[in-house]
Amino acid sequence: GPLPARDADQPPPLLSFEFFPPKTEALEQQLWACVRRLAPLRPRFVSVTYGAGGSTHARTHATVARLVTETDLVPAAHLTCVGATREEVDEVARGYWDAGVRHIVALRGDAPPGTTYAPHPGGYAYAADLVEGLRRIADFEISVAAYPEVHPSARSADDDLDSLKRKLDAGATRAITQYFFDTATYLRFLERCLKAGITAPIVPGIMPVSNYAQAAKFSAMCGTSVPDWLGAMFEGTEDDPDMRRTVATVVASEQVRTLQANGVDEFHFYTLNRPELTYAIAHVLGVRPRPAVAPAPVGVA
Ligand code: FAD
Repeated sequence: GPLPARDADQPPPLLSFEFFPPKTEALEQQLWACVRRLAPLRPRFVSVTYGAGGSTHARTHATVARLVTETDLVPAAHLTCVGATREEVDEVARGYWDAGVRHIVALRGDAPPGTTYAPHPGGYAYAADLVEGLRRIADFEISVAAYPEVHPSARSADDDLDSLKRKLDAGATRAITQYFFDTATYLRFLERCLKAGITAPIVPGIMPVSNYAQAAKFSAMCGTSVPDWLGAMFEGTEDDPDMRRTVATVVASEQVRTLQANGVDEFHFYTLNRPELTYAIAHVLGVRPRPAVAPAPVGVA
């Protein structure tokens, strides 16, 4: 039968939104329009990704710095340790602290395509080491990554769970999951986390997919399985963007409502700097826009 509607007296869930730093003037406009649209949903934080191998460091910094000065949103900066010395990573972290950023999403990052990951000789080897390093620098709030379908290069599922536990024991206070389409897999993962003694929130990462072909290709790289039903849902929508958006909203709404019916009350959205699907799905979750108490202007470059 249909999922029960959210009780009127049930508080709306806590949301966070992820953005990527813009590379061009047009993408810059798109990002800040997205931020303006989503800000009234009062996310508890918004995060900004760090490019492969740290390639977007300057842009990530500029974006979070602007969030600090021009909005009343709480920014979280992603930071990876791949391909850098500890000193380099520490300096970036101190730069964030000095810019007023108090929340870091601490990640290992990936080796360049076609190569296998090897720790930098003078660097933090894994995300757990990075978390430890950050704790020494300042009193950051730290989030880390979790993989309901197991990280693609983990030696085993148990090993991957141990690695998650080490990151949390090192001082991270929450994990955000890789996106997934199979909700049952996530719920089973939560149970495994609990059994392993993990008490920190494991916030589901929601990717509202409207470009099926692109998502299928990308998912293969992140170890996210793409169920047959998802392909079937998008079948025949290749030349119909409106229809694709509708299907995407239905798919993601169903996913978040199933999670909500199972007691999940925190969600992280991979917005891809496009607000509409996230906005619609947040609405389905019971989140309504609220003007900021002291509305801060969000300027356009
Ligand atoms: P880790 O936790 O270090 O784990 C990586 C692998 O090593 C796992 O297989 C783990 O089991 C294994 N491992 C851990 N410790 C050890 C050990 N001591 N010995 C042997 N093996 C070990 N990438 C970016 O480049 N920029 C981003 O902004 C970004 N944001 C992300 C946000 C989220 C929410 C998620 C889920 C991923 C993000 N990624 C990002 C991708 C991430 O960098 C990759 O998934 C990367 O391959 C793993 O990063 P991690 O922090 O999970 O690594």
